[in-house]
Amino acid sequence: MDWEPLVAAARAAREHAYAPYSHFAVGAALLMEDGSIHAAANVENCIPALSVCAERNAMSAAASAGLRLPQAVAVVTGATPPARPCGLCRQTLSEFTRDRDLPILVINADGDREETTLAELFPQPFSLPG
Ligand code: ZN
Repeated sequence: MDWEPLVAAARAAREHAYAPYSHFAVGAALLMEDGSIHAAANVENCIPALSVCAERNAMSAAASAGLRLPQAVAVVTGATPPARPCGLCRQTLSEFTRDRDLPILVINADGDREETTLAELFPQPFSLPG
């Protein structure tokens, strides 16, 4: 897995984070089933419930382009150790992946990185019964 195009896209998106409340800028990039990369930053709101994470913004962008199957995810933050996606984002990625081994790379500004999978981070997603 060549992570560098995804990491570069996530880093570029992070530059556009709107995080005046948390000051926690995040960039995320998804490699989709057609080989395209969709990246986004987190966008906060003065009403905290309206803030949206970079991962979910990136997934919404990909889904809005007609894509449904993320193949890999890179997330860039300034945190040490590198921050992992939150629970909401894990559930959102679960909605759109059939591959529970979806690779996820978290990386920080210093280049510290951890490679994991959706199954590892989120072993029991919610799904509607039936
Ligand atoms: Zn999140």
